Amino acid sequence: MDRCTGTNRRTGAPCRRYPTRGAKVCSVHGGQLPPVKRAAAWRLAEAAARRTLADQPAVLIDDPLVAFAKLASGAVAFQEFAAGHVAELGNRLVGYDADDAEYMRAVVGLYERAMDRAGKLLHAWVRLNMDERLVAVTERHADLIVQVITATLRDLGVDPDEEATRSVLGRHLRAVS
Ligand SMILES: [Zn+2]
Repeated sequence: MDRCTGTNRRTGAPCRRYPTRGAKVCSVHGGQLPPVKRAAAWRLAEAAARRTLADQPAVLIDDPLVAFAKLASGAVAFQEFAAGHVAELGNRLVGYDADDAEYMRAVVGLYERAMDRAGKLLHAWVRLNMDERLVAVTERHADLIVQVITATLRDLGVDPDEEATRSVLGRHLRAVS
């Protein structure tokens, strides 16, 4: 764990005390000052968020519509995560001290930003008719697959319109879809 970044005023030596939770300095070196505590609370809340999001594997964007869908879903999931933390605040609302007040402000701020972001993305989702577009992309892929298979069958001398061929083709397409 990092030590306080303050120095002993008499000797000029580094402080060596443990900093206030989330802060860079100990209580002697300003760790109890409201701006320092506020910054510390933000740092803790953001570190918690980063730990949660770090579990999400990074993926290459090959389809921006799918990427947008993932982004919007992620924003909603994060908003729910933040809402869970806000719900937990209920237990701390009785007899809270200054530290609790800073923590609450940080959590509620995080929640509000998450709500805002998820709301904007969902609004864009509705405006873009994302559901229809995603279905259209999937149908276009399916059309391409059918075209490739049909052309391949013709090249091999198999009639793709023959009943038996269609039945086998249909069975295999259903198996992979
Ligand atoms: Zn110190």
